[in-house]
Amino acid sequence: MEIRLNQVGKKYKNIVALNEIDLTIPQGMFGILGPNGAGKTTLMKILMALLPADTGEITINGIPISQRTKIRECVSYLPQEFSFYPYMSVLEAMDYMALLVGIKSVVKRKEIINELLVKVNLIKHKRKKFKTLSGGMKRRLGIAIALLKDPKVLIVDEPTAGLDPDERVRFRTLLSEFAKDRIVVLSTHIVGDIEHTCKNIAIIDQGNIIFCGERQHLMDEALGKVRVVEIKCEELSDIQSKYYVISINEANSGYSVKLITDKKIGEEVKPNMEDAYLVKMLSHTSDARSNFQELLC
Ligand code: ADP
Repeated sequence: MEIRLNQVGKKYKNIVALNEIDLTIPQGMFGILGPNGAGKTTLMKILMALLPADTGEITINGIPISQRTKIRECVSYLPQEFSFYPYMSVLEAMDYMALLVGIKSVVKRKEIINELLVKVNLIKHKRKKFKTLSGGMKRRLGIAIALLKDPKVLIVDEPTAGLDPDERVRFRTLLSEFAKDRIVVLSTHIVGDIEHTCKNIAIIDQGNIIFCGERQHLMDEALGKVRVVEIKCEELSDIQSKYYVISINEANSGYSVKLITDKKIGEEVKPNMEDAYLVKMLSHTSDARSNFQELLC
């Protein structure tokens, strides 16, 4: 089970959204991380066969993306904003969508809907109208609907946008469970969305894949580049002008500043996922790179 992209390129007039990327997405949870405008949505739309790529080849579990009907049978999408008819209940929404995906037998529909609502923990809310559901419930209903056709691939855009911390954890756990025998692709600009769930990730920036591999490798690459320095209050602006500052905390009579550098200043700290992402982005982007390299010399 895997998604393979080979030299996939996409332009909108003169904007390069994807720059001939190569990517292999294995079974399990896979995170696609990148800033706004990086090309994530374009990539997701191409994977769903909603948008054709200009160049390259894509296969999903061996099926070429050009076989759109087959691809749509095995790929489901959960958008960031999941909306539905406000006065429909959870049960009505599920039944309506089950009919649309072609489950004709009433008995079968009941059985599948019941099973899915239990899985996403919405069974006790099945009579609630869509408009009365919380953000987390709406997203869980979205998953249940996306799973009606038992897809082999589930694509989720900005997984935790608008969810409170408790709902976030539950939603991530749910996705991890589904990923046991599927591919779940999470596209996000929020490091926390993939920090605890995706073993494998890709980082995309300006249409290029700048990292692809195990999350741990990204963290290992950042070792030695994240340091904490204790400074006086009046030194802050100087530090900010010289270094990429990750965070500033009040400490004693000044500040404790976490920053990115190769210089042996302050104390080295173990990078977390967000630090590692910033180190990668900084060493890659052309504007930042020249600044960064000045700092390294
Ligand atoms: P992301 O999802 O990472 O924010 P997108 O795939 O939406 O990135 O966008 C990638 C680039 O392509 C951006 O520069 C964006 O402005 C541009 N873009 C996206 N969609 C269109 C479009 N329909 N027409 C023109 N440019 C677009």
